[in-house]
Amino acid sequence: MDERTTCLVIGGGPAGMVLALLLARAGVEVTVLEKHADFLRDFRGDTVHPSTLQLLDELGLGERFAALPYSTVEEVVLPVGADESIVVADFRRLSVRHPYVAMVPQWDLLDLLADAAREEPSFTLRMRTEVTGLIRESGSVRGVRYRTADGTTGEIRAALTVACDGRWSIAHGQPDLPLREFPVGIDAWWFRLPRLPGDRPAALTPRAAAGRFAVVIPRTDFLQIAYIGPKGTDPQLRERGIERFREDIAELMPDFRDRVDTLASMDDVKHLDVRVNRLARWHVDGLLCIGDAAHAMSPVGGVGINLAVQDAVAAATLLAGPLRRGAVSPSELAAVRGRRLLPTVVVQSLQRLLHRGVVEPIVAGRRMGPPAPALALLRRVPQVSRLPAYLIGVGLRPEHAPDFARRPAARA
Ligand SMILES: Cc1cc2nc3c(=O)[nH]c(=O)nc-3n(C[C@H](O)[C@H](O)[C@H](O)COP(=O)(O)OP(=O)(O)OC[C@H]3O[C@@H](n4cnc5c(N)ncnc54)[C@H](O)[C@@H]3O)c2cc1C
Repeated sequence: MDERTTCLVIGGGPAGMVLALLLARAGVEVTVLEKHADFLRDFRGDTVHPSTLQLLDELGLGERFAALPYSTVEEVVLPVGADESIVVADFRRLSVRHPYVAMVPQWDLLDLLADAAREEPSFTLRMRTEVTGLIRESGSVRGVRYRTADGTTGEIRAALTVACDGRWSIAHGQPDLPLREFPVGIDAWWFRLPRLPGDRPAALTPRAAAGRFAVVIPRTDFLQIAYIGPKGTDPQLRERGIERFREDIAELMPDFRDRVDTLASMDDVKHLDVRVNRLARWHVDGLLCIGDAAHAMSPVGGVGINLAVQDAVAAATLLAGPLRRGAVSPSELAAVRGRRLLPTVVVQSLQRLLHRGVVEPIVAGRRMGPPAPALALLRRVPQVSRLPAYLIGVGLRPEHAPDFARRPAARA
C-alpha cells in the first residue's frame, strides 16, 4: 500500500529540519527522511550566525540553544605579512541581539530542532531511510522511493517534495534542473588540535605564509583548523604523508608545533572538495530544492548553514498556506527562489571575489594578505569592518519566523 504525506522532506540537515519544524507548527503533515542513523558528522559546518540566533529566539528556542556547549567568535581577522593582522569583519559593531557567531556542533543544533519538531503531532522523522529516487509522472514529482537500513524499500507520495539533501542532491540528476558550476581554485582540509589553557582567541584567526593558508576556529575544548590549498591536490597531500603535513602545519603555525603530533594519520585530516554552484531553477511541479541542494557554498564566511536556514524559513512562510489547502502550484514554488535568489547570488559572488582576491593569491604564494587598497581602507576606517560583518552575520533580506511558528521562550 502506498504511503502518503503532505510535505516530504529529503534530508535532515539544517534546511530540512528548520523547514519541517516550521511546517509542523503550521499544522502541515510533514515527513523527513534522513539516510543516517543520527546527526553525528564531524566538520559539518558549525557556525550559527546572528540571523539564525535571532530566528531561534523568535521560535522560542533561544534558551534551549543557550544551554548547548558553544564558543563565540566576535571578529574575523586576516593576516598581513608574518606578524601583523587586521580585523576585516567585526560582529560587535552590529546592532543585533547576538553580535557574534556561535560555534556549536551541528548535531546539537539538529537534535534541538528535531526535539522541538517532535512536539508537533503532524511531524514525522524517519532516520536510516535513504531516498533512492523521485517518483515522476508526466513531468511532475509525486513523491519518492526509499530504502531503509534493513533493506526495506517503499514509496511515499506527497503533495510537495522538498530536496534538502545537500550538495550531492538526488535532484541534480534531473534534466530539467540544470546546475551551474563556478570555477573554484581551492580545496579545504579540516582537522582538530587540542586547545590549551592560554590560547583563547575570540576571533577566527587565519594564518598565511607563502603558499599556505589556514583558519583557526576556537571551539569549547579544541581548535578546529581549516587548511586551504590548491584544488585537486588531495591525492598529493595524502601521498606525502602525515609527517610532512605536520611539518607544514608547524611552519605555518609555530605556536602549535607542540601539538601537531596529535594528528595520528592523514585519516584525521578530512578533505572538503570546495564547490560553488546553483541550480538555474529551484523547482519543477511537485518538487522544490533549497539549501545546499539549490546552491553549494564555499566555506568562506561559514554562511552555508545560515543560508540553508533562511531558505527554509522563506519556503515555510510562502508554502504553509498552500500546503494546508493540500496543493502547491509551480508559481508558488518559483516564489521561493524569487525571494532567496538575490541573497544567494550576492554571497556567492562575494565568496568568489574573496577566492580570487585574497585566498588564491596566498595559496599560490603571490601575496600574504588582502589587496593593498582594501588593507589601506580597513586601516584608515576600521568601522568599514561592519559591512562584511553584516553580510556574513545577517545577510541581505534576513528571514524572520512567520507568526504561526513563533512561540514564547521555553526554559532549557
Ligand atoms: C567539511 C564541511 C565544512 C563546512 N563548514 C561550514 C561552516 O563552518 N559553516 C557553514 O555555515 N557551513 C559550512 N559548511 C556547509 C554547510 O555544512 C552546509 O552549507 C549546510 O549544512 C547546508 O545545509 P543543508 O541542510 O542544505 O544540507 P546538508 O547539511 O548537507 O544536509 C543534507 C542532509 O541530507 C541527508 N541526505 C543526503 N542525501 C540523502 C538521501 N538520498 N536520502 C535521505 N537523506 C539524505 C544528509 O545525510 C544530510 O543530513 C561546511 C560543509 C562541509 C562539508
